[in-house]
Amino acid sequence: MEFRIGTGFDIHRLEEGIPLVLGGVEIEYNRGFKAHSDGDIFFHALTDALLGAVGFGDIGSLFPDNDPKWKDADSSLFLKKAVDIVKRSNFEIVNVDSYIILEKPKILPYRDRIIENTAKILQIDKNRVFLKGKTYEKLDSIGRGDAGIAHVVVLLKREVEK
Ligand code: MG
Repeated sequence: MEFRIGTGFDIHRLEEGIPLVLGGVEIEYNRGFKAHSDGDIFFHALTDALLGAVGFGDIGSLFPDNDPKWKDADSSLFLKKAVDIVKRSNFEIVNVDSYIILEKPKILPYRDRIIENTAKILQIDKNRVFLKGKTYEKLDSIGRGDAGIAHVVVLLKREVEK
């Protein structure tokens, strides 16, 4: 058996008048992530973690943010593409651990929906996906509520022919 880990990180600025989307779930808030796509930092970090684990470039090279095709794009498209690449490489996703750092709003009321939605796209059981919500203790830009961060770690495995 061969194992691979991957790590992903993303940050976007929060601005008024933009829907807040995390893990494909729309979250009630008066600000959202400013980005070329829908700004889903969780799916962006997860996509990068999967691509990194199989050594297949990164989200920026596969889906350039100057390509009009990805303007306001649903980030689940990026994630689905990364899942395809993982499967084509004969890897299986073992588990995902992650956290989202946001001063506001609280992630907990949305956590189960984000996990379920993510597990569905990854085609794995939802008990293999975990998400923690954290704050930045009111420090710096994150703590002021001007931005949010997502960190993701994934573990993949594949059978190796003897
Ligand atoms: Mg991003």
